[in-house]
Amino acid sequence: MRALAIILALCAGLAHAEGHHATEVEPRVSTRTAPAISVGVGVRPFQRPAGIEAYLTVIVPPTVDKRPSLRPFVHNHLMQSLRPFVRPAAITQQARAIETARRRGQVCGDPAIQGVALGAVAGRGRCGIDSGVRVRSVAGVSLSPSATIDCRTASALKNWVTRTAAPAVGDIGGGIASLRVVSHYSCRFRNSASSGKLSEHSFGRAIDIAGIGLQNGDEITVLTDWGRGSKGRALAAMWRGACGPFGTVLGPNANRFHRDHFHFDTARYRSGSYCR
Ligand SMILES: [Zn+2]
Repeated sequence: MRALAIILALCAGLAHAEGHHATEVEPRVSTRTAPAISVGVGVRPFQRPAGIEAYLTVIVPPTVDKRPSLRPFVHNHLMQSLRPFVRPAAITQQARAIETARRRGQVCGDPAIQGVALGAVAGRGRCGIDSGVRVRSVAGVSLSPSATIDCRTASALKNWVTRTAAPAVGDIGGGIASLRVVSHYSCRFRNSASSGKLSEHSFGRAIDIAGIGLQNGDEITVLTDWGRGSKGRALAAMWRGACGPFGTVLGPNANRFHRDHFHFDTARYRSGSYCR
């Protein structure tokens, strides 16, 4: 009886946990159970909820239950790995639902780039983007705030995060979580001058990053960490690794305009990448 009580309690907990997932991924399988049952306070359930009945049938087949020698085995599996016993079809379905949700927010034909397609972005004079996207995250790293760029720049950014930024940060602060964006699409001249050549920002081909947010809430900032300690080394690796995916890479060594941020853009020059 006590074993049954434990199983009931476990199953009730499991059903609850599944119910939580259900709100996120809408699995088709019903996770409804009867009203909560308090086990161990003298109230017996009048009726076993159908869900629990099903779990018991799957988790503890009668043939197994009859053999006392296997009970510890069954018990251990209850404690350690419920999922392999329970409805593999629903798990597949759940994975599919997550994938569908991910694709729903994808832009640039890449599930790793999440955002909103904007189409043509009109700007003053020659400014504007033929086909712009507002990117919320790349490779699971959020952009704060979201950046309006073109797909080529979004892809370069994703590749940089995956191949360079995430490995460079490593487990500092629990790993990379976000990028602090200080400029993206903006109709202006280079170095925010009042005249001269239009910046690549004017065409959605550039993004400026001032800080790398970490999982623990800290931040690696270009202004304060450049050239200092392990965070400085991470920044140097990030700057170096951007050269290639991006055509122009500017940091604190370039000029005074870039002492507090990295400028990355996807303009291409015949001479190759320009990185300072
Ligand atoms: Zn810039």
